[in-house]
Amino acid sequence: MTTDNAKWADILIHLFAVASRLEGEGQYNLAKLTRAATDSLCRQETHPLIIPSDKDKLTAEVQKVIEALTSMNMSADLLSALKQGSEFMAQGKLSPITATPHPYVCRSCGYVTLSPPAEPCPKCGAFAETFQKFMPNYWFDALHPEAARERLRQTPLVVEKLIEGLSDDVMNQSPSDGGWAIRNTLSHLRDAQGVLDFRVDLFLKEAHPILESKAVFAWAKNEAERPPSARDTFETYKASRAETLRKLESLAPSDWDRVGEHEEFGAITLRQQVSYFAAHEATHLSQIEALIQ
Ligand SMILES: [Zn+2]
Repeated sequence: MTTDNAKWADILIHLFAVASRLEGEGQYNLAKLTRAATDSLCRQETHPLIIPSDKDKLTAEVQKVIEALTSMNMSADLLSALKQGSEFMAQGKLSPITATPHPYVCRSCGYVTLSPPAEPCPKCGAFAETFQKFMPNYWFDALHPEAARERLRQTPLVVEKLIEGLSDDVMNQSPSDGGWAIRNTLSHLRDAQGVLDFRVDLFLKEAHPILESKAVFAWAKNEAERPPSARDTFETYKASRAETLRKLESLAPSDWDRVGEHEEFGAITLRQQVSYFAAHEATHLSQIEALIQ
């Protein structure tokens, strides 16, 4: 922390207050810069902090968060959802949408609700449409269909270039921190691609398909079910991707608006699902690059 905590809190609160005022005056470009600065400052401070990834320790961290938020009178509904969600995590599961709905925050007064607001804010009277909805990540709406398809086409080519000439030994080598080898990342890309392909079929076959929550991340180290070599894994991924792209290219424009019910994320469209997978892959490219270094 570059400055003492109280001063730091004062600066952040002032930045948020100024941003809101700027928005109120229609000075949206100044407001966006102020909000970006606030976000940047918070990320700069949090980036070096080490929060454990071990699920029991992480569950304890969430418990500390709940206690801190309780002392600040945070919405009981939000705290209860956080508690329920962390109980799923403690059991090694992903928290479903039923336990942890999307939160909506009143942009004027900060009132929180866990159901889509239909009435004006009970605290300040702001219109329901002005609430900010918090989605689990930015991937859902990151890419329009055309950009998503292009990304899905390009990523295997980028990966192919990255692993060009690497031996299986190199790709099988686990880093000293116990993290993923290149082979595990390739398995993960292949697994995610398999889920995407399966879901595209489901969206097209059924009117309102149930999309089961998949802990795809946890499969990457599963040695029981994988092709004999990292390169075979890559080839499976690439071939399956070509097949998915063929399906996506034959969609009618209205197909992109088909809606499914995701166990973890709630109602999502095919457009959002494809954007999600296309944007998700990019986060693993730097992982492969780092391992090659
Ligand atoms: Zn309000």
